[in-house]
Amino acid sequence: MNRFSYMRAASVEEAVREVAGDPTARFIAGGTNLIDLMKYDVERPDRLIDITHLPLKGIEETEGGGLRIGALVSNDEVAYDSRVQDRYPLLSSAIRAGASPQLRNAATTGGNLLQRTRCYYFYDTGTPCNKREPGSGCPAAFGRNRIHAILGTSEHCIATHPSDMAVAMAALEALVHVAGPNGERVIPIAEFHRLPGDRPEIDNTLERGEIITAVELPAQDFSRNHTYLKVRDRLSYAFALVSVAAALRLDAGKVTDARLALGGVAHKPWRVPEAEAMLSGKAPSSDLFGKVADRILDGAKGYEDNAFKIDLARRTIVRALSQAAEGKPQSQTDKRIQ
Ligand code: SF4
Repeated sequence: MNRFSYMRAASVEEAVREVAGDPTARFIAGGTNLIDLMKYDVERPDRLIDITHLPLKGIEETEGGGLRIGALVSNDEVAYDSRVQDRYPLLSSAIRAGASPQLRNAATTGGNLLQRTRCYYFYDTGTPCNKREPGSGCPAAFGRNRIHAILGTSEHCIATHPSDMAVAMAALEALVHVAGPNGERVIPIAEFHRLPGDRPEIDNTLERGEIITAVELPAQDFSRNHTYLKVRDRLSYAFALVSVAAALRLDAGKVTDARLALGGVAHKPWRVPEAEAMLSGKAPSSDLFGKVADRILDGAKGYEDNAFKIDLARRTIVRALSQAAEGKPQSQTDKRIQ
């Protein structure tokens, strides 16, 4: 691990100023990913700006009837907040599907969105990796790629985003509030993470020095018919091979609104609004769910070790939609798929 200096920011403005003015500086909060990256020599910040004492910790009601979650609220605090459990159980469930209780206690809302891929080569500085060293190559495309993407890939990178929380937030159309050298702005979560294209080293649309201050959940009612279904190699603790956040609204036996987001399959949570629209006005059925899955997976491309994900994703979408339609969300305590 490289030597680095440490300072504790006293305000959001100070934190932004310190990082905006120094390309070698990084914000640190829970540290559940950054410290690993520093130990592996993937990240080499000269300065760490500790933001854990900033006033970004509450969960508040918004004027529009939604919730505003401070960027420093821990993943467990979000998952077990009674308002989140009552009004956004899909988010609570997705967070509880991820990591371990110890990690969820330390990891923050903002940090979860910013965690980096778990591609094996990204963490191995003895190998090339376009995300770590732009222009060096992508060994995953021809090497071990079981956990890699099947949608939205490029010749430069086939990594996935590892978050469960972000997948539910994508389905819930969350808004990411940020502050930076040029003031504050709001980024719809669909525009927050990016596809790798020819710049895989850039994970998201934050500008230099911008800090996440909160995530806003708009008012909506997907509290009855939802599920977060995560398929992984180990039930105890593993990143998703494929996950599906599904939320439906039903009236008189027909779908009136639908949201679907996939994790483990792309460089960002994957949504296809045209596929969601196929459900509108229709009665739930396996046949319909299969057609929706086919639309979502249109253009999916497998590699040597991960081609199985295409069929797995299709089955997971159908199962998740069935769970949501029946109002029987996946248990995150008994993690066996129901
Ligand atoms: Fe690096 Fe992306 Fe290729 Fe993994 S998939 S080796 S992160 S460029």
